[in-house]
This record gives sequence, C-alpha cells and structure tokens, in this order.
Amino acid sequence: MQPIPREDLAALLQWYVDQGFDETIGEAPVDRFALPAPVAVAVAPAEGAAPRLAPVAPAASATAARPGPPPLPPRAPVPLESPQLVEDARALARRCTSVAELEAAIRAFEGCALKRTAKNTVFADGVAGAPVMVVGEAPGADEDRLGKPFVGVSGQLMDRMFEAIGMSRQRDLYITNIIFWRPPGNRTPTQAEQAICLAFTRRHIELAQPKVLVLAGGTSAKAILDTTEGIMRLRGKWTAVQLDDGSAVPTLPTFHPAYLLRTPASKRQSWIDLLAIDKRLRELGLR
Ligand code: URA
Repeated sequence: MQPIPREDLAALLQWYVDQGFDETIGEAPVDRFALPAPVAVAVAPAEGAAPRLAPVAPAASATAARPGPPPLPPRAPVPLESPQLVEDARALARRCTSVAELEAAIRAFEGCALKRTAKNTVFADGVAGAPVMVVGEAPGADEDRLGKPFVGVSGQLMDRMFEAIGMSRQRDLYITNIIFWRPPGNRTPTQAEQAICLAFTRRHIELAQPKVLVLAGGTSAKAILDTTEGIMRLRGKWTAVQLDDGSAVPTLPTFHPAYLLRTPASKRQSWIDLLAIDKRLRELGLR
C-alpha cells in the first residue's frame, strides 16, 4: 500500500475535528466493518407498556450485570430517538428507591445515543444528601475521561467559588449534570437526549433531597425549570422546583462557571448568588 501523504493525513484529522471528533476514546483503532452485527438489549419499559429493545454494540451489554432495580423482560427493537424512551427512563427512575439504585440503573441504561460515543457514565460527585445540590449541563472531555462531573477548568473555578463561602464538595455539595454522557465535540444535547436524561435527573433530586438546588447555566436551568427564559433573566431569582413525589426544593439558577471563565466581569453577580445561597442555608439553620 502507498504511504498516505502527510498533508492528506493532516486534512483527514482536521475533517474529524470539524465533525466533532476531538478526542480518541481507545488505545487502538477499531475496524467497525469487521465487528459482528449489533445485538439488542432491553431498556426499561414504562409500567404496563409492551416490551421493547434498543440495539447496541455487543460490548455495551457488559454493564447489564451491575446491581440495580430488577431486570426487565426482553422487548422488540425501538429507535433511539423514540419518545417512548423518555417514558422508559421515567418508569425506570421511579422504580429506584435510593441514589445507589438510580446510579446503577443509569449505568445500565442503553436508551440514550450519547452513551455510544462517551467513554464513561458521569453520574455525580460530592456527598449524596449534602444540603446543596448543583446541577450543570453535561460532561466535557475531562469529565468523560475521569467519570466525574465538573473536574475540568470550569469545575475548578466552581470549587473555588464555593470555597469562598466555606463550602466544599468533600463536605457540603452534591454535584451532577442533567446529561450523564458527554455529547460528541461538546455539542448542545438534543431535546430528546435532554428529555431522557432529565427523567433520571428529576428522580436524582428527589432521592438526594437537597435543601437547596443550584442550577449552573442556562441549559440546566431551562431544562429543570421547564422554561424558555434565558439565564440572564433567571439567574439570582429564587424559585421552587416541584418534584413528582410532591416535594418542592428552593432553587437558584446561576451562571455556568464556563461562562464566567469567558466573561470574568459577571463574577460579581455570581458572588451575589453565592451569598444568597449562604444566607438561605443560615435561614434554614444549616450553617
Ligand atoms: N460543564 C458542565 O456543565 N458539567 C460538567 O460536568 C463539566 C462542565
């Protein structure tokens, strides 16, 4: 075989980057044409719904052995864009009675296309049951590599911000995202991807029972508050998120730390938000 000229290889690499493939996710290349045809594995059906299957690559079924809610019967194939998957996610989430069960259910869930390209499921970090739960948008490259939310530069800024009011993820914070798998090239998650993951995230909030919920950035705020209002209008205004179990949690939307890295002048407003969180916790007798 003729060696491929250097410039052609560079052009090919650039094409991959332009398409959003900005990271290798394995040590060695995989010839996907040589792999056996995908098999189907069960995703959770909504209560009373007919069994269905989502097709996945064979390796992905390895996660099915993890602990979690009882396994479901096999079902006929369902496309990964199907709205039924949102119902499946809701039903599966409802059946989880602890954060650990929910984590296992999400890790075993095969109904979100983002899982196919992600290296890790990024569930949460910090202390489950901590007074403050922070919900961001989606894992980036660092989070995907390490399997934890907010561990890259924006996460480090977030840690420093909370430290300024004497709070840390080792003690006082529970941190997650509305999306559990890194979108390729950090693209904005689609409405379908958000709806599927949100079903789990809403249950996550119910099970973690934070005293205060902090929504980091517009995507998280819009999704959790179910609004089209932008973060510029939402930030700094307390609201209450009504959960499906009948509880309500005081919630403060605030700027995403990645936005603050790009727009340092806005840190002033974020400081006001941090002071508001501190004040609310003191009012609740938690500080
Ligand atoms: N941005 C987010 O919204 N979440 C992360 O985990 C990392 C960056």
